[in-house]
Amino acid sequence: MTTTPQNDTGTRDLAAAFADYAPSVEGRDIVTIRPRYGLLSGGEERDARDGAVFATIDPSTGDHIAEVAEGSAQDVDDAVAAARAAYESTWRDMPGRTRAKYLFRLARLLQDRSREFAVLETIDGGKPIRESRDVDVPLAAAHLFHHAGWADKLEYAVPGMTGRPLGVVGQITPWNFPLLMVAWKIAPALACGNTVVLKPAETTPLTALLLGELAREAGFPPGVLNVVTGAGATGAALAGHPGVDKVAFTGSTEVGKAIRRATAERGTRLTLELGGKGAHVVFDDAALDQAVEGVVDGIFFNQGHVCCAGSRLLVQEGIADELLGRLRRRIELLRVGDPLDKNTDVGAINSHAQLERIRGFVEDAREDGARIHQTSRPLPERGFYFPPTIVEGLGGSEAICREEVFGPVLAVQTFRTEAEAVARANATRYGLSAGVWTEKGSRILWVSQRLRAGVVWANSFNRFDPASPFGGMRESGFGREGGRQGLQEYLRLEPVGA
Ligand code: ADP
Repeated sequence: MTTTPQNDTGTRDLAAAFADYAPSVEGRDIVTIRPRYGLLSGGEERDARDGAVFATIDPSTGDHIAEVAEGSAQDVDDAVAAARAAYESTWRDMPGRTRAKYLFRLARLLQDRSREFAVLETIDGGKPIRESRDVDVPLAAAHLFHHAGWADKLEYAVPGMTGRPLGVVGQITPWNFPLLMVAWKIAPALACGNTVVLKPAETTPLTALLLGELAREAGFPPGVLNVVTGAGATGAALAGHPGVDKVAFTGSTEVGKAIRRATAERGTRLTLELGGKGAHVVFDDAALDQAVEGVVDGIFFNQGHVCCAGSRLLVQEGIADELLGRLRRRIELLRVGDPLDKNTDVGAINSHAQLERIRGFVEDAREDGARIHQTSRPLPERGFYFPPTIVEGLGGSEAICREEVFGPVLAVQTFRTEAEAVARANATRYGLSAGVWTEKGSRILWVSQRLRAGVVWANSFNRFDPASPFGGMRESGFGREGGRQGLQEYLRLEPVGA
């Protein structure tokens, strides 16, 4: 029996609150994986019209898992038409409390099958089962519950304003949190009365498809939630579709810019949650043990495949040797390996292409004269793995300090003063997350007010809750997910009485 820690609403604690629904997981035999999956359109599972498929593989071994329908522009068109019909015939005008019932039912079904979802997520994406089980699946359920609760209370979401749904929403999700990002997106959209065409990432489509199946089981009217699988071309067809009233995208900054152009052409509403290069700023008065754990969690959680990862460490000069010594010893203790092993800390890199990208950044840094520190433990022989890595001796202009690596790689710089720390932390085109580690409350305020990041954590990192808005600024995107702010992104607002 797990108890919920008091006075703290962070990720782990929320997970603890849902722990009864995320019991221990044994292995692969918990899930039945079919050799072939269709896309979900208009309440039916069917092949792509042209019969195209793509393969999804297990990154921990490189083995083929299943074939999945590759949706074409025509399939996107069909799904958008189904979503429009569902919007106009049922979902838009349904009382909020009835929409809520469907969402609550979906959330409960997800909890009932949480073990299966956790194992499937880990097989398809490579993340440690402990994370799928304790973070991704419980948080996905929490998002569905939270937004189900809003469906009949939308008049209170924005005081003084009446919110109406937008229509058909196109949502494109990434591979790093395949199920959780789907929940973040569909929950507010559906709660607000919109219908959805979802395009999950091509390397991790299976949990989105399973959630789509659960929506059918929960009795959602056909066409309310459509899942069109495929790669970039499928996503581009969705983002540029004239029948889509709003696009929500989470992924790379480059693709986000292309989507921004496509939606600007048509005046389609848009939210973008893009890349990041988050900095931990650790001052010499910080509680070092706590800071070490926060920094480790900030960059090695989910193999560093996290847009808000703390991929840069800015440490005050006086404690740099001590902190880095502790960090080097700490990463020796991280277990890298089979994602289905409950003791694994760092699982598989999501794809071969991503592994090559990470290697490229680290090799370039080595050539630039940086000092590379990696764990000495052997990596599995098969599959895509990269050791936890700390890169020191950097000036700040190197690519590894500027670009999003999206891997278990921490770039370290030092600073002397608060002003220098802020300047270094802000020396990035991104603006998603940051962390401040210090005992002084006044310093937390001074620094966090000056950091250009959508989310700033103080003496903690990677804490999420459905009630708190998440999102970026600058090249990390715009718009918020979660909280009342997240609901506003799916509503057309008018003054009350208008
Ligand atoms: P990454 O580079 O980390 O794989 P991407 O931004 O390429 O991230 O992918 C995020 C999501 O965007 C995936 O679902 C992917 O299929 C989709 N996608 C890729 N290219 C495009 C595009 N041109 N238009 C719309 N969606 C796209």
